[in-house]
Amino acid sequence: MNVAADFETYVLPTYARFPLIPVRGEGAYLWDDTGRKYLDFCTGIAVCSIGHCHPALTTAICQQAGTLMHVSNLFQIPQQAKLARTIVEEHVKIPGKVFFSNSGAEANDGMIKTARRFGHARPQADGTPRFEIITFSQSFHGRTLGSMAATAQAKIQEGFSPLLPGFRYAPFNDLEALVAAITPATAAIMLEPIQGEGGVNVATAEFLRGAAALAKQHDLLLMMDEVQAGFGRCGHAMAWRAIADEIEPDCISWAKGMGGGFPIGSFWVSDRAIAEQKPLSSLMGPGSHGSTYGGTPLACAASQAVLDVISSENLGAHAIAMEHYIRKIFSNWDQSIFQEVKGIGLLLGLAIRPDSVPQIDGKTPAQVIVAAFMEQGLLTVPAGPNVVRLLPPLTITAAEIDAAFIAMSQALAAMA
Ligand SMILES: *Cc1c(COP(=O)(O)O)cnc(C)c1O
Repeated sequence: MNVAADFETYVLPTYARFPLIPVRGEGAYLWDDTGRKYLDFCTGIAVCSIGHCHPALTTAICQQAGTLMHVSNLFQIPQQAKLARTIVEEHVKIPGKVFFSNSGAEANDGMIKTARRFGHARPQADGTPRFEIITFSQSFHGRTLGSMAATAQAKIQEGFSPLLPGFRYAPFNDLEALVAAITPATAAIMLEPIQGEGGVNVATAEFLRGAAALAKQHDLLLMMDEVQAGFGRCGHAMAWRAIADEIEPDCISWAKGMGGGFPIGSFWVSDRAIAEQKPLSSLMGPGSHGSTYGGTPLACAASQAVLDVISSENLGAHAIAMEHYIRKIFSNWDQSIFQEVKGIGLLLGLAIRPDSVPQIDGKTPAQVIVAAFMEQGLLTVPAGPNVVRLLPPLTITAAEIDAAFIAMSQALAAMA
């Protein structure tokens, strides 16, 4: 079997893939087909939140797979009810209801549909439905037609016009510009409290509070995309709470880390009353949305196991402790490539100093450094052209972080 040749012949070339062929994982480590061991600070892009093949997750999947994998959402799936209760009661802690999807983009499409329903339920003065959603520069919301239109990045949208209408883009962390973007047709504001793909950009508390206040003032939905940042990655179960705890969003989406490697996504809609005491969540009634695979017994059992480990092992607090440890090492690190550590918890980015890394073969500075780290046995991910993302499992230890910094130092020395 020649994996690279089969990719070339049979797989659509949507990814510029590294030559690495992964075959096995355990905790923070990944092994390739030659038996080489890597320290994994990529974790399938913030997916393997409790490490590779955590016994609690593997056991939950095996047991459920041998009992009942799939039934239709026409029936009351007990694992789905339990997971929804866990998410609402233990993690969101605001009354509301959850829908289960299979990915982050699908979860965001569901939120976008909720905003459209809201715009119909609470139209403009002349009865015209509101429909516009404001999103932000450097955002990433996914690759479906809806979530791609929400993503304010030209490179993601290139060649796919006409885009789904109804999105207006504003610069991130700029309240004045947000005010100016609101029109009579605006129905919602949608944002990542900590932008992942766009370069690990943290929303300021002032910006989040201002957006929440504007949403109240103009009767808009405040929608958080926590697909990458949620469930402990940024310390708190909910990432926005790490920035401005008191805010109450109307919708939240998740995926990546909640499945620990099993595909699952979801979005939550608040029970807060809109017109005539009707809860917002009631706008998504029978027939309004659906997914054949969303929230199966198997997916929900897997996610339940992941969330239970995150809670019982207090991995949110551990993520913050490990962030402090990384920042301390960074501040004493003798190097000239990176200027700062961005992010919160274990959604971190090393910002590359301008002009400190040569352009090679049209690769961005971040791609050049990620490849150099991989040479030294450390997997990381670019976030935009000038940031290298560190996304270790939430179970990472101080000793493993020490090993990562040794690998990074070796890589920088080899590049120099
Ligand atoms: C990854 C990501 C998505 C898309 O999730 P998929 O599961 O790839 O569809 C959406 N929003 C954010 C913030 C993400 O990081």
